[in-house]
Amino acid sequence: MTAFNWQTAVIKIGSALVSPDGTGTSDKFLSNIAHFITECRRQGKDIVLVSSGSVAAARGEIRTGQKVSPGKKAAMAAIGQTKMMATWSSLFDFTCAQLLLTVEDLNDRRRFVNIKNTIEQLLDHNVLPIVNENDTVAIDQSKVGDNDNLAAHTAIAVQADCLIICTDVDGLYTGNPRLDPSAKLLSSVDTIDDNIVRLAGGAGSSVGTGGMITKLQAAQKCAQSGIQTLLVNGTKTETFTKLVSGNCPGTLFLAKDEDSTARQDWIKHTSNPKGELVIDHGAYLAVTERGASLLSAGITQVVGKFVANDAVLVTHEGKVIGKGLAAYSSAEIQQIKGVKSAQIQDILGYSDSAEVLHRDDFVLIKPIASKAH
Ligand code: GLU
Repeated sequence: MTAFNWQTAVIKIGSALVSPDGTGTSDKFLSNIAHFITECRRQGKDIVLVSSGSVAAARGEIRTGQKVSPGKKAAMAAIGQTKMMATWSSLFDFTCAQLLLTVEDLNDRRRFVNIKNTIEQLLDHNVLPIVNENDTVAIDQSKVGDNDNLAAHTAIAVQADCLIICTDVDGLYTGNPRLDPSAKLLSSVDTIDDNIVRLAGGAGSSVGTGGMITKLQAAQKCAQSGIQTLLVNGTKTETFTKLVSGNCPGTLFLAKDEDSTARQDWIKHTSNPKGELVIDHGAYLAVTERGASLLSAGITQVVGKFVANDAVLVTHEGKVIGKGLAAYSSAEIQQIKGVKSAQIQDILGYSDSAEVLHRDDFVLIKPIASKAH
């Protein structure tokens, strides 16, 4: 077991724990989790809950076939969300608050900051924020899609130091423990590389299919933002006694020592790029080796349409090297690309910024495990 320390945690609870029979809600597993949350709060720690289960909670409430249409799922989420909130609230003697989010809310810097401020207010007032995706309005590509990644975005928003993903397996194994008796639980993972991703999705790993990849994606986003992730079995009582005493009974994904700001973490993991800036070799060296801002002179091509303050990818020789918030629109950058900053005023008639991407609004993207991004 690996020891760990934390002050602010996002705890993610999967549908299987909220609705163990796949229909309605149950406190079978939630009461242990609620005790754990209450005890942590008593110790002065801050907790934000991300709870799945709204769709499962509504099963049986409306007629569905074997396959549930997206429209019916949205309706079920609307029904089940209140049931789920009622179940959680019944397990606490303090106030709970509901936050329903969409990917657009997270991608938009102002809405994102609003979410962050709201959660901070709730925590300051000893309220337990309970987050879920707003399944009635989020459809297809506008969905985060899974609450593991939603929990990671939430952890980044509140600058948590810990994400605890409660699921119904003990953690990440070297193989499928149900088929392979020699499969071992990985008690800690330093770097989520391709070998680790393979354990989650590789052939013969039933533990890994349907769910482990999104957990690794969440852990990777968190690790790169300096947040540790714990993957634990929320169906076992002893999981929570161990967590309370500062031990991780499952898999601990270590945080990287990142000196990025909260704004840069948002740019890297949450913002949605609207275009692309292709840069020359000199600019590539300046931003990657010297940590410099990106100037107009180094931009050779502008792809896509975007407005000032939109997120854009920065590419060189066909590879994405970073992401940042553009100080100018795509139409403006078309006019100033390849020219010195001093000429911006003459060309545009104004100069809002000497840099196209300021170094504070820019993050480098290192090539990482291919599936877990
Ligand atoms: N938002 C979905 C629900 O509440 C769950 C998504 C997930 O579990 O990843 O049912």
